[in-house]
Amino acid sequence: MNIPFVDLKAQYQSIKADIDGAIANVISETAFIKGKYVEKFDADFAKWLGVKHSIGCANGTDAIEIVLQALGVGKGDEVIVPARTWISTSEAVTTVGAKVVFVDVDPHLYTIDVKKIEEKITPRTKAIIPVHFHGLPAEMDEIMAIAKKHNLFVIEDTAQGHGAKYKGKLTGTFGNAATYSFFPGKNLGAYGDAGGMVMNDDALATKCRMIADHGRLGKHDHGLEGRNSRLDGMHAAILSAKLPYLDSWTKARQKNAGLYNEALKSLDIQVPAVPSHSEHVFHLYVVQVNNREEVQKKLQEKGVATGIHYPIALPFLKAYDYLGHKPSDFQVAHAQMSRILSLPMYSELTAEQINYVAKVLGESL
Ligand SMILES: *Cc1c(COP(=O)(O)O)cnc(C)c1O
Repeated sequence: MNIPFVDLKAQYQSIKADIDGAIANVISETAFIKGKYVEKFDADFAKWLGVKHSIGCANGTDAIEIVLQALGVGKGDEVIVPARTWISTSEAVTTVGAKVVFVDVDPHLYTIDVKKIEEKITPRTKAIIPVHFHGLPAEMDEIMAIAKKHNLFVIEDTAQGHGAKYKGKLTGTFGNAATYSFFPGKNLGAYGDAGGMVMNDDALATKCRMIADHGRLGKHDHGLEGRNSRLDGMHAAILSAKLPYLDSWTKARQKNAGLYNEALKSLDIQVPAVPSHSEHVFHLYVVQVNNREEVQKKLQEKGVATGIHYPIALPFLKAYDYLGHKPSDFQVAHAQMSRILSLPMYSELTAEQINYVAKVLGESL
C-alpha cells in the first residue's frame, strides 16, 4: 500500500463540479480582484464562525501581521508566542517591530503552557498569540483570564484550528481577533496562498481591511499606508464552494483520529491527548515515539509517508540565535523535537489505510 501524507486530489475529485463551476464563474465574470466573490466568502465565513467581521487577505502570516499592526503593537512592545508553532506566529511579531517572547508548551496538549505565561509578562508585554496547534484549542479560559488581568490583547492563531471548539465555543471567537490560513493543506484550503482575519470590533475591522488594501478609503483615496494583501477572487470562490463541506470533513478527520487511537492503543507510543472540554479538529495527528528517525524510515519503506511538524522548536532556530536560548529554557519543546511524528491525516483516509499505518508502525518500533 502507498499512503500519502495528505491527498488534496481526493478532496478535489469529491467536489469537482462545485470547484470547476466556481472557477469558471470567476473567469467568465473577470472577478479577479475584490468584487462579489471576495465579499461573499467574507460573509460566508463570518456567518459560519458567528463573528461580525471576516476579512480575507493574502495568507495567514500577513493576517497576524496586519492584526498586530492594526492593534498598534510595534516597536518597544513584547508579544508572547508558544515555543512550538509554525514560524509565522513569531515572524509576524518581529515584522511589526515588536519583540518575540517564547513560552514553553504543554507536554501532552502541545499548546502554550498556561502555567508558564505570567512569568514572561513584563510592563512591555502587549499581546498573547495562542495557537490552536495541530487543531487542538489552546486553554482559552486561562489565557483570557491572564490577558484580562494584565490588559493584553489576545490574537488567536487559528491556522490549524478551523472549527475546533473549547468548552463548546468555536476557536477564533475568544480573542480580540483571530487569524486563519487557507493554505492548500490546511483544514479549509484554497488552491494557492490565502488567509483571513476575524473579529467583532468594528473599528479594528475597518483598520485591518484598510491595511490589507493600501490603506484605502476609496478607489484613489488612502487614509494610511497599508500594503497589498488581498484575498483573490478565485480563492474566495473556491473557499465559498468548500465551506459547506468543512464540518463534514472535520467529522471525518475526528473519526479517523478515533480509528488511529483504537489501532494504536496497545503500542508504546503517545497518541494525541484531548481534554474532555475540547474538540480537536486534527489538522495533524501527531504521535511521540522513541527512535523517531528509524521509525520514520521504516514507515517510508513500507509506503507510509509521515511528517515532522516541526523538527526544530522556534527558540532553537538559527533565526532566533540572537535571543540566546538554551534547551533548558524550553525543556518540553526541546524534548518533543526528537520524538514527534505526524501520521497521514485527511478526511478521505479509509479504515483500511489507517489499520495498515498502525500495523506498519507497530512493526517499526
Ligand atoms: C500555516 C500556518 C500559518 C501561516 O499561514 P500561511 O497562510 O502559510 O502564511 C500561521 N500559523 C500557523 C500555526 C500555521 O500552521
